[in-house]
Amino acid sequence: MNRLDQQGDAVDVIIVGGGMVGLALACALRHSGLQIVVIERNEPQVRYSLGRDCRVSAIVHGNAQILEGLGVWKYLQDEAGPIRQMRVWDNQEAGGIRFDCGEIETDALGYLVENSVMQQAMHNAMLESDTIEFCCPAEIDELHWGSDRVSVRLSDGRLLTSPLLVGADGGRSWVREQVGIGVWQRDYQQQGIVATVRPQQPHHGYAFQRFLPTGPLAMLPMSDNLCSIVWSAENSEAERLMAMQDNDFLQALNLTFGPMLGRITEAGERAAFPLRGQLARHLVRERVALIGDAAHCIHPLAGLGVNLGIRDAMVLAQEIVDARRFDEDWGELRVLDRYMKQRLPDVLSIMASMEGFHQLFTATLPGLKELRGLGMRLVGNSGAVKQLLMRNSTGLSLPVPKQIS
Ligand SMILES: Cc1cc2nc3c(=O)[nH]c(=O)nc-3n(C[C@H](O)[C@H](O)[C@H](O)COP(=O)(O)OP(=O)(O)OC[C@H]3O[C@@H](n4cnc5c(N)ncnc54)[C@H](O)[C@@H]3O)c2cc1C
Repeated sequence: MNRLDQQGDAVDVIIVGGGMVGLALACALRHSGLQIVVIERNEPQVRYSLGRDCRVSAIVHGNAQILEGLGVWKYLQDEAGPIRQMRVWDNQEAGGIRFDCGEIETDALGYLVENSVMQQAMHNAMLESDTIEFCCPAEIDELHWGSDRVSVRLSDGRLLTSPLLVGADGGRSWVREQVGIGVWQRDYQQQGIVATVRPQQPHHGYAFQRFLPTGPLAMLPMSDNLCSIVWSAENSEAERLMAMQDNDFLQALNLTFGPMLGRITEAGERAAFPLRGQLARHLVRERVALIGDAAHCIHPLAGLGVNLGIRDAMVLAQEIVDARRFDEDWGELRVLDRYMKQRLPDVLSIMASMEGFHQLFTATLPGLKELRGLGMRLVGNSGAVKQLLMRNSTGLSLPVPKQIS
């Protein structure tokens, strides 16, 4: 690691990465009075598909409440499509299950939001504060990781020091690498193909997820009766789907998804993302904390990656604010450990369920089809189990602050 003299502008928190999770942390700290600098390498780039961002996120109900508390929701609520029901079934028609928001007495299980809309809303909320500085495009050229401060030199030569550096810089985190934190990794050998599509019939706010042996296909409701697909497929199949002419792709999509929404009549530009599961071996080091995909990446089959990241941001923000209130140094390992201990159960349980789902639906062991069908029927018929599952997956029952106090 390069040496860097400890001088320059003293700030309270440096966040590397201005994606949804880094911005969520900045928003969570915007009323704290702390001086925050967010360093983002790239200007926003959006890939459109039928006029919509091809990258979308299903934000679960509990996280929508968090975004409301952060002052972000008001900027995106008109464009967030409610998901009122989720229907899950598998390739073998061995059983199916429906989750309806009425079962947990909410208006929606979650909301579908275009990533660029979310980022813009977070920017708007962040700019309400004059203690947050957003440096973009910028990156760190030099980092000195000392015992009582972290010092960085930005690409424009500016020097900053802070008691805490937060890595919110995604799955290939530069921060994580610089401080020598390794990862456990699982390459699913799959790609997630995303696109906006137009169904013939109204979707009524229903989301659909079909599990195939090659990976799940999700059809998620957007406004104006459009849908966003996330079609996870093994690498060779994904390459074949990506290489298809539009009409052939549309035909393959209709065959695979089935007639639930009538015909899918139009599919916009496609994009594909390699899928992997990944967990950092440590979420924290002295003076460094990892949040979001820098800390953990999960399979998008349940659409929970950014939801986990936003929850990381909330818990870390609360620990920072509490530490300051009690005159503690928020970059010290004992403070950061509190963040890690609170987050690990949520992160590990979601990662384990994603792994379990993936195995359950892709493995072809004898008897597994029947077991899957039985499992779905049991969950579907047991009101209590289903409600518990729904409350957990919508983030309603988790001990995560809905706003920073
Ligand atoms: C196909 C697909 C579908 C998904 N669907 C959902 C869903 O429905 N719901 C859900 O919750 N999650 C979903 N996810 C997961 C979700 O997209 C990620 O969890 C989320 O984007 C992670 O956000 P992040 O801010 O941690 O990281 P990123 O989005 O990767 O942002 C990191 C930021 O850091 C910047 N950066 C990187 N390196 C540096 C550096 N050295 N210096 C400065 N800046 C840097 C990058 O430019 C970027 O802006 C999906 C993922 C995929 C692949």
